[in-house]
Amino acid sequence: MAVDSALSSLLGPPACEKDAKALQLIEDMTRNADAVQERVLAEILAQNADTEYLRRHGLGGAIDRATFKRKLPIISYEDLQPEIQRIANGDSSAILSSHPISEFLTSSGTSAGERKLMPTIREELDRRQLLYSLLMPVMNLYVPGLDKGKGLYFLFVKSETRTPGGLLARPVLTSYYKSDHFRTRPYDPYNVYTSPNEAVLCSDSYQSMYTQMLCGLLERHHVLRLGAVFASGLLRAIRFLQLNWPQLADDIRSGTLTPRVTDPGIRSVMDQIMKPDPDLADFITLECSKDQWEGIITRIWPKTKYLDVIVTGAMAQYIPTLEYYSGGLSMACTMYASSECYFGINLNPMCKPSEVAYTIMPNMAYFEFLPHGPASAAAAYSPEMLVDLADVEVGKEYELVITTYAGLYRYRVGDILRVTGFHNSAPQFHFVRRKNVLLSIDSDKTDEAELQKAVENASQNLRSHGASVVEYTSYADTRTIPGHYVVYWELLLKDKDDAINANTACGSLSREVMGRCCLAMEESLNAVYRQCRVADGSIGPLEIRVVRPGTFEELMDYAISRGASINQYKVPRCVNFTPIVELLDSRVVSSHLSPALPHWSPERRR
Ligand code: AMP
Repeated sequence: MAVDSALSSLLGPPACEKDAKALQLIEDMTRNADAVQERVLAEILAQNADTEYLRRHGLGGAIDRATFKRKLPIISYEDLQPEIQRIANGDSSAILSSHPISEFLTSSGTSAGERKLMPTIREELDRRQLLYSLLMPVMNLYVPGLDKGKGLYFLFVKSETRTPGGLLARPVLTSYYKSDHFRTRPYDPYNVYTSPNEAVLCSDSYQSMYTQMLCGLLERHHVLRLGAVFASGLLRAIRFLQLNWPQLADDIRSGTLTPRVTDPGIRSVMDQIMKPDPDLADFITLECSKDQWEGIITRIWPKTKYLDVIVTGAMAQYIPTLEYYSGGLSMACTMYASSECYFGINLNPMCKPSEVAYTIMPNMAYFEFLPHGPASAAAAYSPEMLVDLADVEVGKEYELVITTYAGLYRYRVGDILRVTGFHNSAPQFHFVRRKNVLLSIDSDKTDEAELQKAVENASQNLRSHGASVVEYTSYADTRTIPGHYVVYWELLLKDKDDAINANTACGSLSREVMGRCCLAMEESLNAVYRQCRVADGSIGPLEIRVVRPGTFEELMDYAISRGASINQYKVPRCVNFTPIVELLDSRVVSSHLSPALPHWSPERRR
């Protein structure tokens, strides 16, 4: 299709008229980043002028930056707990937002062990949709011909609950997939998926995954891109194929769907799709029964041009495994988003994972940046330190602070970003890390305090055996799929004979006691961890590796030999530097896996 050259963007020539408009919007927003930000803040403050929160802080209807910055405090989730609790309990007055709260989005960030509840309003769905609509126009600039085939995306909904006041509480993607924006999206040749909606919307993760994989296999010659939201999700799909290919091949051979998939919507749509295909079944059997799974993705889906998965932040640990299974395909990290707000997109999605920079779109919310670094970490921050989107400096690190249409004002997201450059006047950010996250395998985020509590709770099981944990550290082991938490324990065994035996075993502590410790740790971890373990199967059983006495002293010696100060040395509560992990592993006397699943239900504990 010929495209009006006037609409041709700085980013490159668009693939079609629709893309031209999207690229033009990106140009407009990024060229005028500061003006757009000023307008967004004024809109948010005008819209919510009569809310209890803005009144309480004495904004008096002001919509300008100076008054906003003078009057409103910088807050974290915990500061909003009372307001959020009131909304959850059914108070529908204009507390944070003048628009009715349509539902709560349950973040993978937790507070007191439970998912944070983010209030949202209906119009935010349009804003999220707008950001999604920019992704393919950008991708089409780099990868031509994506309209000639399909995307195999593993997308899932998760369970939802209602708050005491009756509002739905569910993850943001579940909310999006269940919305009309997704379910009744108009046909777009650049955005055709192999997975039927019925499979994406099935809340049983086995049936959903089975059907999505089956459809992907049936259409293997049409698949041009393969993806999941996060890298861990795509690897889970590969693992699923490893475990389930015989059944999948049987279904393909006979043209019928296994009775294990009972969802009537799925069965009816698959009835229309499936026909016996013995050649495809033979091919799947041949490829999947090989010992070598290196490059399996491109062997099964030979036309795949790239993987569409986020491999930035904590997901970077999966890059080597994805490279192995895909024979080195490019990995596109297309967007940066959260339950609180969708932030921005990657304007150069085919770049190397280490070079990914997200351009925050100035129309999504009002963004401020709290300088982050050794100096400001030590000193208490003051509100004057915050800088605006257009004023951040290349090379510096900042913590993201947002003000949203849904009613979060100067809210600390907890992400640390580094400015890598600008597109027009909009800065581009490298995602550095999320604050306070020690361990993460999937969407779980475990901090130091949670790990400490879990070790404390678990070690209660040792008391009656006269033993205690003297030191511990941890490691996210992603060499297996699914990955799992490994916690290294050095024990103090009070019994003299046991202490002598401690070099070869863990004394009189039976495997059963240590298994109980593993499970007790899992029970103590937050709801997102337990949901990943129980409902998603995306984290494997927690493992305790008992190391021999003196190991942690060796660890300290090693750190000091590398320049650490002896006075300031603290045992790292998480390790990922290979020589350290190897040192610990070489001192392991016994290892123990959690023997059962921890408890988890969609209901909140509080
Ligand atoms: P949630 O609130 O559960 O939606 O999680 C949102 C968080 O996930 C963000 O605040 C980031 O810490 C992380 N996240 C989202 N997108 C990305 C990305 N593209 N790269 C790295 N981390 C991300």
